[in-house]
Amino acid sequence: MKPKEIAEQLAFDREHLWHPYTSMNNPLPVQHVARAEGVWIILSDGTRLIDGMSSWWSAIHGYNNPKLNAAAENQLQQMSHVMFGGLTHAPAVELGRRLVGMTPQGLEKIFYCDSGSVAVEVAVKMALQYRHARGETDRNKLATIRNGYHGDTWHAMSVCDPVTGMHSIFSGRLPIQYFVPRPEVRFGQEWNDRDFEPMAELIEQHHRELTAVILEPVVQGAGGMWFYHPEYLRKLRQYCDRYDLLLIADEIATGFGRSGKMFACEWAGISPDILCVGKALTGGYLSFAAVLTTPSVATTISQGTPSELMHGPTFMGNPLACAIACASLDLLRENSPLERIAEIQKQLERGLAPARKLHGVADVRTLGAIGVVEMKEPVKVAEVQKRCIEEGIWLRPFGRLVYMMPPYVIKDHELERLTEATLRVVETIE
Ligand SMILES: *Cc1c(COP(=O)(O)O)cnc(C)c1O
Repeated sequence: MKPKEIAEQLAFDREHLWHPYTSMNNPLPVQHVARAEGVWIILSDGTRLIDGMSSWWSAIHGYNNPKLNAAAENQLQQMSHVMFGGLTHAPAVELGRRLVGMTPQGLEKIFYCDSGSVAVEVAVKMALQYRHARGETDRNKLATIRNGYHGDTWHAMSVCDPVTGMHSIFSGRLPIQYFVPRPEVRFGQEWNDRDFEPMAELIEQHHRELTAVILEPVVQGAGGMWFYHPEYLRKLRQYCDRYDLLLIADEIATGFGRSGKMFACEWAGISPDILCVGKALTGGYLSFAAVLTTPSVATTISQGTPSELMHGPTFMGNPLACAIACASLDLLRENSPLERIAEIQKQLERGLAPARKLHGVADVRTLGAIGVVEMKEPVKVAEVQKRCIEEGIWLRPFGRLVYMMPPYVIKDHELERLTEATLRVVETIE
């Protein structure tokens, strides 16, 4: 594309297109992308960037993947979409088979939907209809931990961290939920029962009002990039059983290997009652998500009045998304990425460790294919991104966090460039 054309497009974009979490008046700069391939994002001016973000946890097999492209092209020849009301098709069934086979035990009933946030809405709706069917209409609140992120729709936002989720703007209108501090014992540290006490007390005091506990297992993503001890999750499972609460695991970010296990729940050896997956489900090709639950929850809902689960998006079970998701899950099975992810973690750990000595850095942590450099002060996103682009990498920091979760297909030398460049950028942050 000619420089003049690029400039015109950027000017239109700035004037008319809202980007994620930005002001329309004074937006963060955006880069004009021409194409992407493997771990490379190629800007329209020819600049090549190593992608450290997997487009927000999703592009696990890299961009422009030949197998995923082929799956999309094949499906296009059949149909890209038909309604799921009264119709079904091979891609939806095949994907369902794969999901039931690979997710934690007991999750056998699947609801397909459009995006992660909608999956969380559906999960909450399931939990509430479950209580409705049992005549427990007083049990309609959710409990969660601080620093979580569950999406941007209404109920999802109500369980996001109140500070970073900016609940203050919507106070009085968001559903009120119960929050306890995030678990403090880190992944890999020695467990201490005291860490679970706030959650235990909350459940003991309020279980009569609670329908479910929702959280991100082991890895808190966009709310704080925090890795906590799996024992917390085991304890929570026990408490949910004891007090008859549903446990909703939001694995929209962690699902499909990112934490070093196929699902982060596996670190604790537990199964939730409801599981949300999204993001990497289609290898980053299309917005798509699924909510899985147990026969017990599904049967209870269906014995209620009304017996229907009151949800059914237009693009439910989209064949194109299902076909790509099947191909993505097949790639996961064939490439045994968990071994590769363990190697990526070692290399992230080695590569980012020197940042611990920098005086602006508060903490460095890694788990699975995730590396985090936590600064002492909030970073200036525009400045840091400019420096990253000069260094030939793509990162999107937020708050005090400069972090990366590269595609699993990243090669050793590319990952080395990514961590070395990150170190150079972090060094220059005051
Ligand atoms: C991204 C994310 C969501 C929301 O997914 P969208 O597809 O952006 O709506 C929900 N929960 C978690 C843990 C996420 O990381």
